Amino acid sequence: MLELPVYLDNNASTPCDPRVLETMLPYFSSMFGNAASRSHAFGWAAEAAVDQAREQVARLIGAQPQEIVFTSGATEAVNLAIKGVFETYTAKGNHIITCQTEHKAVLDTCKHLERKGALVTYLPVNSDGLPDLAALEAAITPQTILLAFMYANNETGVINPVQAIGAIAKKHGVIYLCDASQAAGKIPVNVLSDHIDLLTLSAHKMYGPKGVGALYVRRRDPRVKLTAQMDGGGHERGMRSGTLNVPGIVGLGKACEIAQQEMAADAKRLSLMRNRLQEALLQIEHAYVNGSVEHRLPHVMNISFKYIEGTTLLMGFNKTIALSSGSACTAASMEPSYVLKALGIGDDLAHASLRFALGRFTTDEQIEYAIRTVTSTVQQLRAVSPLWEMYREGHLADSASWAHP
Ligand SMILES: *Cc1c(COP(=O)(O)O)cnc(C)c1O
Repeated sequence: MLELPVYLDNNASTPCDPRVLETMLPYFSSMFGNAASRSHAFGWAAEAAVDQAREQVARLIGAQPQEIVFTSGATEAVNLAIKGVFETYTAKGNHIITCQTEHKAVLDTCKHLERKGALVTYLPVNSDGLPDLAALEAAITPQTILLAFMYANNETGVINPVQAIGAIAKKHGVIYLCDASQAAGKIPVNVLSDHIDLLTLSAHKMYGPKGVGALYVRRRDPRVKLTAQMDGGGHERGMRSGTLNVPGIVGLGKACEIAQQEMAADAKRLSLMRNRLQEALLQIEHAYVNGSVEHRLPHVMNISFKYIEGTTLLMGFNKTIALSSGSACTAASMEPSYVLKALGIGDDLAHASLRFALGRFTTDEQIEYAIRTVTSTVQQLRAVSPLWEMYREGHLADSASWAHP
């Protein structure tokens, strides 16, 4: 029996793997000690668990355990990285280069720093969602202190040329921050071969618990220094004060260990499912995949069905499929996804987009259900859509835009 709703929103959050939960549980009860308590066995047990997790996280990304700083998630890690660099390297300059398709954690942190004197370049992307590396290199000035380019995009799954970006950063002596929240544990990530100086990841995007993440801070060649954003007991080598979330950190470590062992097999299985889904949905008239299909995470597909709104489609699924649309309704307006807009996708197609994000627990049966449901819902909605009718009768120019309520 297929259980509904089918969950295909794994880029928003993944379920906690039962093996991860199992590993965490003792740290809520018998092993409840504070990892900073140096005078008794409760503290030592907690510290040992944190040390092991630090090794597990480091191993997944090719880092050293001393280079891992635990945080409350990727948002905090990004804030610490960008603000920490900006405050430390003021003598060198105030220029940051990032990209229009970055996550809000990066963009809003940069916007915040613009009010504090930072100069930020927001590079555009091409229709595949990829930045122009020549334009990136040309944007670097002697005042540039940081490049912030994600590993893989959360909305489209598009994978950046991380190694090439890292090489440019290294050549110009600029620090490279890579938000790997969607890539870590899904595809191979290596801070050494990718020339990454700062890297962020989040447990709940890789089958771990919510509210815990990590920041990798390179210790040599070059040694990156950060100004702490949280003052207190000097935890995490002074970079992030606050009592460590031991159960969460243990969960993140276990999630990294499992990912390292299983990501190749998961990626292979999920890419087959994703390709099956893509092939089937492209049978629908006027369906378009958004972003590069070549440089893309194996489990992600963003697709638009012209002449229907994503939110209407979601309602049409009648709560049987859980996924996201690039059409976000805010209080006063209908703002299509800024990521899709940056790819040059028109408002109509951006509003008509759905993001399918498969995960470790997605089954073939669920994919077949999604194919049937999406196909029939698109057909039903178009049958009653005045826009579709006008298009059929040839009354609609290609650029027809939505009349917003
Ligand atoms: C989810 C996500 C974040 C934020 O991570 P949290 O741990 O939820 O704060 C940042 N960047 C990207 C690309 C993400 O997908």
